[in-house]
Amino acid sequence: MRIPVIAGNWKLFKTIGEAVAMVRELKPLVEKCEDVEIVVAPVFTALSRVSDVIACSNVKLAAQDCYWEEEGAFTGEVAPKLLKDAGCGYVIIGHSERRQYFGETDLTVNRKTKAAIAAGLQAIVCVGESLAERESDQTFSVIETQITGSLAGLSAADFGQVIIAYEPVWAIGTGKTASDDQAQEVHAFIRQLVAKLADQSVADAVRILYGGSVKPDNVKGLMSQPDIDGALVGGASLKAESFAAIAAFNS
Ligand code: PEP
Repeated sequence: MRIPVIAGNWKLFKTIGEAVAMVRELKPLVEKCEDVEIVVAPVFTALSRVSDVIACSNVKLAAQDCYWEEEGAFTGEVAPKLLKDAGCGYVIIGHSERRQYFGETDLTVNRKTKAAIAAGLQAIVCVGESLAERESDQTFSVIETQITGSLAGLSAADFGQVIIAYEPVWAIGTGKTASDDQAQEVHAFIRQLVAKLADQSVADAVRILYGGSVKPDNVKGLMSQPDIDGALVGGASLKAESFAAIAAFNS
């Protein structure tokens, strides 16, 4: 059985004070949510303080990126073990905004994923096609390239620390959600790819999240699909009430 994950990506929003206030508001709203992993990903500077506030709650902590080296002369970078030290259990890797604006490639995503796993984090690895790629029928080939490149060389055990997020770029922050069928089709394809990269039992166990304008009113339909195991939520994760409503998709 795959435990669903509802993860909120706060991107470059919220001061430390605002992040702390948000989780203080969120905790009681989600305390009765069962059988779901609830994760928030604040900016780096807020991680440690948010970690203190969510201790002993069912809200878990993610970072939005990491580097692949443990330490050294790498100005501005943050190592996975430092994220663990700040209280993170998860890290988002290869978000389309990092691929688009910061030169992230499947190779760097792969290195970061391996480093995150080695540090004991759950790696939330993002893939997704652009609008031009979807319109020119390249969705499946783009996803295949991203998945095989980003997850190359992982052992079956490593996959136990991988969560895949399928986020069609055209659906992120646009208000356009993939239909339940469109999302399911790609999720099923990704699961087959994981079976080829590892084996069927690994593929059956790996969580695949959908991301792209997930809101309280569309989450149930998406979550009713057999291969959709959760959501990576941007805009609707910034308010406690809407994020809590998404986390309560099964109630
Ligand atoms: C995201 O940032 O990963 C995302 C899916 O954003 P939104 O929900 O705003 O589309």
